[in-house]
Amino acid sequence: STPVLELRDVRKTYRLPRGQKLKAVDGISLRVMPGEMLGLVGESGCGKSTLGRCMLRLDDVSSGQVLFEGRDITTLSERKLRPLRPGMQMVFQNSTAALNPCRRIGDLLAEPLRVHPAPDGRRRTSATITARLHELMALVGLPASALARYPHAFSGGQRQRINIARALALSPRLVVADEPVSALDVSVQAQIVNLFADLRARLGLTYVFVAHDLAVVRQISTRVAVMYLGAIVECGETDAVLHAPAHPYTAALTAAVPRPVVGAAPAMLLRGDVPSPVNRPAGCRFHTRCPQAQARCGVEEPLLRAIRPGHEAACHYPLGGEHRKV
Ligand code: SF4
Ligand code: MG
Repeated sequence: STPVLELRDVRKTYRLPRGQKLKAVDGISLRVMPGEMLGLVGESGCGKSTLGRCMLRLDDVSSGQVLFEGRDITTLSERKLRPLRPGMQMVFQNSTAALNPCRRIGDLLAEPLRVHPAPDGRRRTSATITARLHELMALVGLPASALARYPHAFSGGQRQRINIARALALSPRLVVADEPVSALDVSVQAQIVNLFADLRARLGLTYVFVAHDLAVVRQISTRVAVMYLGAIVECGETDAVLHAPAHPYTAALTAAVPRPVVGAAPAMLLRGDVPSPVNRPAGCRFHTRCPQAQARCGVEEPLLRAIRPGHEAACHYPLGGEHRKV
């Protein structure tokens, strides 16, 4: 079948004063198949939010291609993108900033339904919109009475439910959620993560779930892509990546997951800070912090390649591989 989302060598470069270039996204290719839940993981500043915005053409890419349901949307005009927008939606991290405090929840949720015509091309009637608002409240587990209230009346978790309802209003096929639980209390995080899992099962949604935390992604992702300094360094089925990480960076991240994964690689500490994406290290982008680094790593860039079927890593000496120097 056709991927819901496909990225082909996508790059996003920002030009800084003094002629410097910041390569926020540095050549990413990936496919997200229908019904998949891809977890995109990395430390803050690795480019994952920028990539998320590029996926939905909320940001233009500098080069490469973005395909939505097989259609190249890389350079589509805003006018031609418009009819595609209902199919691809974003949930943002900050549930408060995303909701206009002066408008009732019912108005906020009705807005996309008023702006975009129904799939048959007709404008929705107010009766249809009202019925849809009630459906949306039920979907995200809020009472219909919430529609008459203002955002300040809700807790952070409830506000995130409202944001999710808004993203779902137009029945998207693809949802990109950018750290949708990072700003919430740990106890509330689990509820929202469960809601995402539940919605996927009920609506057949395809998600890209952006997180800095493997623990969050582990619960709901079918596949995980690990990002470091603008590139994917490892990608594969969630169990494979978490139980048998091939890239030393992923191994370090799994070691940092609070509840240790059974059989995970021994704990590894990351040395130093993430280097600046303006002057990313030559060779392997991780070599300045890698406990396994060897001379070759500072010179030659490792490309993403298959370690096992469906599991790729960008490392000259993948963990558990034959090439690993003992
Ligand atoms: Fe570490 Fe070298 Fe692998 Fe990079 S290529 S992750 S520096 S072992
Ligand atoms: Mg971010």
